[in-house]
Amino acid sequence: MIKQLDLSEQYKKLNVEILDRVKQVFETQQFVMGNFVGEFEKACADYLDAKHAISVASGSDALLIALLSIGIQKGDKVITTPFTFFATASAITRLGGIPLFVDIEPETFNISVPAIEQALKKNRGVKAILPVHLYGRSADMEGIMKLAKKFRVRVVEDAAQAFGARSRYNNEYRKAGTIGDIGCFSFYPTKNLGGAGDGGMMVTNNDKLAALLKMLRAHGSPERYVHKYHGINSRLDALQAVVLSVKLNHIEQWNHTRMELARRYNDLFSGAGLTGSITCPDVPDDLTHIVHQYTVRIKNRDGIRQALKEDGIGTEVYYPIPLHLQPVFKYLGYKKGSLKQTELAAKEVLSLPLYPEMTVEQQVQVVDSFKKIQESGFKTKNSK
Ligand SMILES: *Cc1c(COP(=O)(O)O)cnc(C)c1O
Repeated sequence: MIKQLDLSEQYKKLNVEILDRVKQVFETQQFVMGNFVGEFEKACADYLDAKHAISVASGSDALLIALLSIGIQKGDKVITTPFTFFATASAITRLGGIPLFVDIEPETFNISVPAIEQALKKNRGVKAILPVHLYGRSADMEGIMKLAKKFRVRVVEDAAQAFGARSRYNNEYRKAGTIGDIGCFSFYPTKNLGGAGDGGMMVTNNDKLAALLKMLRAHGSPERYVHKYHGINSRLDALQAVVLSVKLNHIEQWNHTRMELARRYNDLFSGAGLTGSITCPDVPDDLTHIVHQYTVRIKNRDGIRQALKEDGIGTEVYYPIPLHLQPVFKYLGYKKGSLKQTELAAKEVLSLPLYPEMTVEQQVQVVDSFKKIQESGFKTKNSK
């Protein structure tokens, strides 16, 4: 049995250190904000090379507060991708904004820059672009920032899956999340930097926005019992901060290991002669894809997924229903067939087991299982 994600080996390695830090939190009884959270924010800002890092209770809250801080309100349009987790778009609609979903690039699964440009030309009232660095691969920030400057719109990056990934920008590399006005991260346990519960972070290089973000996460309060804005209550627990501080020391290594594992999968699939039917992701050397998910494309995905499951291989589909076709967004008026690359990707993507502690033998077993299914003629197609 190989799970799609197994964090038990990681915990075996880190548990002494983590439990020691957890004990410190209990001993000081400093559960909310305070030094532990401050230290983690500083360490995050240093690692990401961002001027400010402001923690919150989840990645969803990070997105919501970020959009609130740039003034998104009723009727404002925000261009985003429909091929992402629900929270990306619900942050927009929660504020009364209107998501303008545009199609993705089929190779990277990220938002298409030409499609953004079209939407900017066609629509009035666009206030921001909200790209997602899906599966740990940086969106084309160079192209996105060029359009943002030309059309004078803000950029909020959803970097929930891309902690430590690099984005190419102005002939250099920066950490994903630090190029737009604000970058948002999630520390949900399954993320590549994951806590022991919920958590999130907003980063920015803009001093004014940083001050506003800090107020907005604390009921819009610049000082105790003075409330200047309609904010929310969204804080990172000290317990999460210490767990994440321990893990942050390993993130660079883990991301490198993810890339190595992905390349090994690619070699194993091509060695097994399977790359005709399975499209593997390319993994460049420059850390622009840290393989938060190792996601292949495959026809008859659901049948194969079922066969893999019967063979003890866990997989996931991120995401089976594009956001423009979600029931809750029906009022936005998108039709089936309106965003073709996204809809095709939703039918074909499959995320295979990948986590830094995974062994060669386990990867071989996954690929062997594909081979077995292939040789059986994919007959799962007509079963049941
Ligand atoms: C996980 C995730 C979020 C939401 O983060 P939570 O911490 O679960 O609220 C937002 N966007 C993307 C792309 C994600 O993967």
